[in-house]
Amino acid sequence: MNSLPDTPFEASASLDVRADFPALHQEINGRPLVYLDSAASAQQPQVVIDAVSRYQSHDHANVHRGVHTLSHRATDAYESARNRIRAFINAASLSEVVFTKGTTESINLVAQSFARPRLKPGDRIVVSHMEHHANIVPWQIVCGQTGAELVVTPIDERGQLDLEALDRQLDDRVAMLAIGHVSNALGTINPIADICRLAHERDIPVLVDGAQGVPHGSVDVAALGCDFYAFSGHKMFGPTGTGVLYGREALLEDMPPYQGGGDMILEVRFDGTVYNELPYKFEAGTPNISGFVGLAAAVDYLETIGMQRIARHEQALLGILTKRLGDIPGVRLIGTAAHKASVQSFVVEDIHPHDIGTLVDQQGVAIRTGHHCAMPVMQYFDVPGTARASLALYNDENDVDRLIAALDRAIRMFQ
Ligand code: PMP
Repeated sequence: MNSLPDTPFEASASLDVRADFPALHQEINGRPLVYLDSAASAQQPQVVIDAVSRYQSHDHANVHRGVHTLSHRATDAYESARNRIRAFINAASLSEVVFTKGTTESINLVAQSFARPRLKPGDRIVVSHMEHHANIVPWQIVCGQTGAELVVTPIDERGQLDLEALDRQLDDRVAMLAIGHVSNALGTINPIADICRLAHERDIPVLVDGAQGVPHGSVDVAALGCDFYAFSGHKMFGPTGTGVLYGREALLEDMPPYQGGGDMILEVRFDGTVYNELPYKFEAGTPNISGFVGLAAAVDYLETIGMQRIARHEQALLGILTKRLGDIPGVRLIGTAAHKASVQSFVVEDIHPHDIGTLVDQQGVAIRTGHHCAMPVMQYFDVPGTARASLALYNDENDVDRLIAALDRAIRMFQ
């Protein structure tokens, strides 16, 4: 992201937005819920829930082809969501904003529709060792289909990308670089603008997995200079089943459709079908209309608070969380990069991460445990999994206190 400050240890003033999130106001196992699992899926503010409900209650119909009033309303709502999201990420035109069901679908679309027709045996696709499975497996599949080879950029013991190795790897055999903006397992922020410059000097297109980038700082795809940027609505306080693929118009224009069906065509004949213009060429079938209405409301909500404020708040809180966790005897922090966002993974000596997760849940604290869909990261650090606390704009120091107290208690039970 472009806006993260470098001041991780300043005091964390609460953004005071908890009241906006109804799911946070409940008891779990007799204790007020502390939600520290937003990297998996973020809670939704009331304005998002209301926008979806209002649309479902008053405006719902299928989009694009109807002449009746409700269809016009639904189309307006859906297309104005596209425009909100275009502005949010600073895409140049609406043609560059393809709606999908999530980051996973966005990456698969690029692998199949952009990479597959261009790849030949011996070509290379570069990914990093810290990628989520969604930014590994689609490339493995396309390598299997084409005879291309997957090359992995190493990371170091702090969970940082080895940029010198990447520089060496990006040679004329490389047809594509696919890299995460922020690692969901480690929290590492990769220097995407620099990486894109490096790749483009060698005419290598870059896809950025932005699933963990968009919720935590302002993302400007033009400033980053990437060719594709994929992200998910549910990580940015919107509904599940919504996602976005940003792609440069010239590249999208050249790509064949990913799926065929209604809405992605202009004319269908048995002797040949004419595909629709961008972005509809990539949106076959009835989309998740209410979901994107909700996502637009989430974008409005985030912009009202301000992405820079959110980034500053989360940085400060992450500094506090990391320090407090690191001070607990027996805790090993996994992911200690110089530039990080909103995630701290850790393991506790002699206690399985799942036991940690279960024990803190009994005290009302929700964290995620396991491999976080990043098994190669677990393999690198030689751990079966980690416990991971992830922060969002609604977390505050009280949440950190509650996690630390719950962990202390869990660890004492094993002594
Ligand atoms: N990439 C990263 C970095 C992620 O954190 C996630 C979700 N955990 C994904 C990709 C996949 O996102 P989705 O399941 O919403 O498609």
